[in-house]
Amino acid sequence: MSAYLDNAATTKPSPECTEAILSALQSNYGNPSSLHSMGLQAQLMVDAARARIAAALSVDAGTILFTSGATESNNMAIFGTAARYGKRARRVVTTTVEHASVRSAFDTLEAQGFEVIRIAPEASDAEFAEKFAAAVNENTCLASMMLVNNETGHILPVKAALTAAKKKNPKLITHCDAVQGFLKIPFSASDLQADLLTVSGHKIHAAKGIGALRYQKGVKLQPLLYGGEQEKGFRPGTESVPLIAGFGAAAEAMRKTLEPRRHHAQSLRTECIAQLLLLDGIRIHSPEHGSPFILSFSVQGLRSETLLHFLAEREIYVSSGSACSKGKQSGVLRQFGVPDALADSTIRVSFSAENTSDDIRMLTEAIAIAQKTLIHKR
Ligand code: PMP
Repeated sequence: MSAYLDNAATTKPSPECTEAILSALQSNYGNPSSLHSMGLQAQLMVDAARARIAAALSVDAGTILFTSGATESNNMAIFGTAARYGKRARRVVTTTVEHASVRSAFDTLEAQGFEVIRIAPEASDAEFAEKFAAAVNENTCLASMMLVNNETGHILPVKAALTAAKKKNPKLITHCDAVQGFLKIPFSASDLQADLLTVSGHKIHAAKGIGALRYQKGVKLQPLLYGGEQEKGFRPGTESVPLIAGFGAAAEAMRKTLEPRRHHAQSLRTECIAQLLLLDGIRIHSPEHGSPFILSFSVQGLRSETLLHFLAEREIYVSSGSACSKGKQSGVLRQFGVPDALADSTIRVSFSAENTSDDIRMLTEAIAIAQKTLIHKR
């Protein structure tokens, strides 16, 4: 028996996704740009998937661009805005807790001469949003805040921050990396006041290598790539019809089950916290009202990597901090108030609809054994 508890890193493709991908590979393998009927068939598949992603975000299908994933969507949003609107407005505002694909893009803009303001989270959402908006001035072209932190599950006050930021500078372009919130917590793209919004396929039971950027009509981005007219010229190159179709199918299935999945995750998370707290030396880092899908905690006296491998030997799969950082500390935990000494022993478990109470029991029992055997041995 195994327990896959690393769903914030990636998820298992759903049957709907796999079926759509296979069908596109085996039967509908035309190029959407071809003028014959096979091309048209492929184009219809892309259109249907676009409508499904749009429905999941409660927006018009015409505002969805397919990309190779959230890393590309984030880069497209940040560099595309900076190149188009940043000639004179040289300031950009972001947070200190973003994913590497946002953080590194802003670091690069800074090296190019942009003034990058990074706002740290506050204990109160209102204060955080206020500080974020206060950093926006008339010379600011872009403000970006993630929706759900991938390491801790904190839900950031995106709507309040971006609304206040736009009030300060109506010309401002706003962006939200919504990867860990998409089809996990309810929101609509326009409600968040994000002109640009990033989502990824493989976090919602679609394949790796597919994502989308949603843009508010009227926002003009400088493309990262130049070529044909696909994706309105913003993202040229022959569309990955199989991955796009799979993304649409996965999103449609997930949209229909958002509420039961959210409640299921919430009860697993509550159960996991209760069982962990029966052990000694556990510190929970995730906030009570964070994403139900993510739980970050420390097992004091056990280094994350040691525990991660101990669990993997028992076919229990978790992350140390964030999977993207491959064991390297990102500094994000410290920003959320986790002392450095505990950051070293932090484990992130993340749930999906497929997890059960058995998985939680397997995890917590294995941690208890690890505490007895590994800590005792030293
Ligand atoms: N943003 C966040 C918040 C993420 O969690 C991830 C994936 N770890 C990404 C962006 C990057 O997504 P992708 O793998 O689709 O490039």
